[in-house]
Amino acid sequence: MRLSRLFGKTLKETPAEADTLSHQLLLRAGMIQQVAAGIYSYLPLGWRVLRKIEHIIREEMDKAGGQELMLPALQPFELWEQSGRYPSFGKTLFTVIDRKEHRLALGPTHEEVITELVRRYVQSYRDLPLLLYQIQNKFRDEPRPRGGLLRVREFIMKDLYSFDVDEAGLDNSYQEMIQAYKNIYSRCGLPAVVVEADSGAIGGKESQEFMLIADSGEDEIMYCSSCGYAANTEKAQFAKPKLEIKSPLPMEEISTPNIKTIEEVADFVGVPTSHTLKAVFYSADGELVFVVTRGDLEVNETKFRNLLKCSELRLATETEVKAAGLVAGSASPIGIEGIKIVADDSITLGSNFIAGANKVDTHLKNVNYPRDFEVDTIADIAVARSGDSCPKCEGKLLSTQGIEVGHVFKLGTFLSEKLGAFFLDRNGVLCPIIMGCYGIGLGRLLAAAIEQNHDDKGIIWPLAIAPYHIHLCPLHLGDSEISQTAEKLYEDLTRKNLETLFDDRDESPGFKFNDADLLGIPLRLTLSPRTLQSQSVEVKWRKEKQAQLLPLEGITVRIKELLQEPDRS
Ligand SMILES: [Zn+2]
Repeated sequence: MRLSRLFGKTLKETPAEADTLSHQLLLRAGMIQQVAAGIYSYLPLGWRVLRKIEHIIREEMDKAGGQELMLPALQPFELWEQSGRYPSFGKTLFTVIDRKEHRLALGPTHEEVITELVRRYVQSYRDLPLLLYQIQNKFRDEPRPRGGLLRVREFIMKDLYSFDVDEAGLDNSYQEMIQAYKNIYSRCGLPAVVVEADSGAIGGKESQEFMLIADSGEDEIMYCSSCGYAANTEKAQFAKPKLEIKSPLPMEEISTPNIKTIEEVADFVGVPTSHTLKAVFYSADGELVFVVTRGDLEVNETKFRNLLKCSELRLATETEVKAAGLVAGSASPIGIEGIKIVADDSITLGSNFIAGANKVDTHLKNVNYPRDFEVDTIADIAVARSGDSCPKCEGKLLSTQGIEVGHVFKLGTFLSEKLGAFFLDRNGVLCPIIMGCYGIGLGRLLAAAIEQNHDDKGIIWPLAIAPYHIHLCPLHLGDSEISQTAEKLYEDLTRKNLETLFDDRDESPGFKFNDADLLGIPLRLTLSPRTLQSQSVEVKWRKEKQAQLLPLEGITVRIKELLQEPDRS
């Protein structure tokens, strides 16, 4: 491809709307263009990267026994009502009304449609297992699209759905997919780590995410360096520090003038925050919920949301708290009636706590559960933090940032039961099909690749997904010897099927090198009067500092060898 003819222009300045590094670099490199919030066009260079990622994914899905098909973006809304998943998707589900006043959903995912399809074809255990996948555009009305391709409203996704007769079959499909995903990331030159994850709106019981470790990642991962436990912070468990349980003392009031926060209370009484109970108020689908945790822990909103099975969760406003008759700063579950109370199980890991008295400037000493108050639900709803103890061993948890680039779920039977996807087993008994689903966002992976692989000059593409492999960069094209040699070299490289972007523009060396660094094509070949003097070409990898001179004679063979070196993939 001749750069002079390439559609799309590089930008010197960073566009103001770009809020992440990959977004800035993709716009500056002329690889994508925003059409509306969270909606993008791919320009030729960006699309080439996407197609390469797609090719690798398709090969690995096929190798694992997947069969590709195509499903509609428009889905009957009834399917979403039938599956019962509409509430958990809530406003992120795009819906449209057709001319006959019939409501349709723009598919954010396709479990409903594919289960409905499979239901029609699967009768007996002999028809299973099945691995079906699609690579196509999906839609989510994100409240805050951001980060360029990281959080968008229309996106290209590979989803594979597995259908099995029993748990062992599901385990098998799940493990096959995990291996296929590992192959995909490794072939893309993007090593990803597997972590335990929350299943969120998709539902199901077990799920894992693939994360690219990157400082700019929006997900926090907790991991144990001793045993290898790793989980998204949304999901991460930890061994909560246990306090000595002492025999309960009589409860007594203490005056705490102007003391509001847990730290102030603990300081005032002279105990660590772990000896206090903290009250937090949430609005869950419009209902006020009173949350109690031990004072040294924070609420994990994902765990809390899953426990409540609600779709809208936010901290309650001061007005809502007041209207419920609660005294913020001195609130506690003691003597509260008519409000749902949810507690973290840490309230059982201690005794004689300090808690609010539901009276201004007053707290209580020696509060004990369950002697002094009742709760509606008690469960683990606390957030794990760096330094907490590993739930599996004695090790300490550490945290790092990552970008989610893949997600696999064991769905089980809740969808097949709801949508009537049953089969006859060996004994002629009607059973629901056991499902799993496995997704990779292609654009997201592309953006994550940049978040992980760049420097202050631009993108550094891994070879396997680079838009071109070679950036041919002749300098001083006004010199006819240079331009003739460059044209000849471009022709030779192209004839050998080496993917070459040819900077045939008569621009200054600085300008051309800046563009080459920004576009991030792995191997740069520079021709200049100096290299021609020795009948050579300067060869430089984008990710290395040093360049080398190689003789022009036999250069295409040498380049082919360089690109095939095993550690270059
Ligand atoms: Zn551990």
